[in-house]
Amino acid sequence: MNLKTSIHLSTVEEFQTIFGDQLQVGTALAKYTSSRVGGQAELFLTVQSSEELVTAVELAYKRNVPYFVLGGGSNIMVADQGVRGLIIMNRAKTVSYRHIGASVICTAESGMNLSSLTRQCIAKGLGGLEWGISVPGTVGGAVVGNSGAHGGDMASNVRAVTIWEPGRGTRIYRHDQLQYGYRNSVLKQEHGRNVARRVVLSAELELKPEKVAVLQARADGFIAHRKQTQPGGATVGSMFKNPENYYAGYLIEAAGLKGYRVGGAAISEKHANFFVNDDNATAEDVRSLIAEAWHAVREQFNVELELEVELVGEWKFEE
Ligand SMILES: Cc1cc2nc3c(=O)[nH]c(=O)nc-3n(C[C@H](O)[C@H](O)[C@H](O)COP(=O)(O)OP(=O)(O)OC[C@H]3O[C@@H](n4cnc5c(N)ncnc54)[C@H](O)[C@@H]3O)c2cc1C
Repeated sequence: MNLKTSIHLSTVEEFQTIFGDQLQVGTALAKYTSSRVGGQAELFLTVQSSEELVTAVELAYKRNVPYFVLGGGSNIMVADQGVRGLIIMNRAKTVSYRHIGASVICTAESGMNLSSLTRQCIAKGLGGLEWGISVPGTVGGAVVGNSGAHGGDMASNVRAVTIWEPGRGTRIYRHDQLQYGYRNSVLKQEHGRNVARRVVLSAELELKPEKVAVLQARADGFIAHRKQTQPGGATVGSMFKNPENYYAGYLIEAAGLKGYRVGGAAISEKHANFFVNDDNATAEDVRSLIAEAWHAVREQFNVELELEVELVGEWKFEE
């Protein structure tokens, strides 16, 4: 193993002693993200349980190593230069269910895949999470970004979340403490700030018993709608948030940018808020598309779009 990183060798060895082969040095991140662009992680660690996740972030925090929890990589884009510090790929997936009155509480570890969880809930006749049927990524990513679709979102399901806080340890946040808004939460507000981030370990989701056939039909409808309206291939889903009273895709389309291409990336012909990597794009190709769309929409409609996706690593944008 090549041990050349900016992280102190003794710290790398500490991680190796605890995690063995679960730790890699200099791992290409593109294959762990839905956009399939970007460079390497200095250190890349796969964790299989909440306990391992806590061990990893506690050690990173104590040793001053920047850390970043990676779920499904479906709402981030990694810079071509890669990311300094420790990327923790979260594969903690335990799920349990308990009854409380007329509801069922599903407790899912944060690395559980959201659409797999949705399928599991449907099969058990538990309703409320059908909106998540084809939203890529993990429960943790959805809790942080308040992901949603088809009129539902994480905020409408979450009852409480178990969170590890840097320097303080594990505590439970009730729904109202998460400060949910449109694709926003108290956890998302940490992004872009130079702080050690809180980590979602598990979430309690409130569901209601309903007939499996009804739930399945609803989910099938959502899947069909998505197929009709969104492109396949390597994307991050919606690039920008919808500004108040507008759809970002409509504004980009009206600015004449459907099909606009830079290098291996293009603004989708099917949905202009989707940027598709269809020919070995670099992160720089996608950055150019983002800048072009942002400036064109501001110039023509006086609207400043806000990214929905998080840019990870070193990115440069000019005003
Ligand atoms: C084709 C496609 C369709 C999409 N459709 C939708 C849609 O309909 N609705 C929607 O809302 N989104 C959609 N998205 C975006 C994406 O699926 C969601 O934002 C998803 O919830 C991200 O989850 P993730 O696990 O992939 O997060 P990642 O991209 O891995 O991470 C996103 C952020 O969450 C943080 N994070 C992840 N896990 C944890 C954790 N355990 N603790 C602390 N922080 C954590 C990361 O550090 C990062 O800051 C779509 C994406 C694609 C590619």
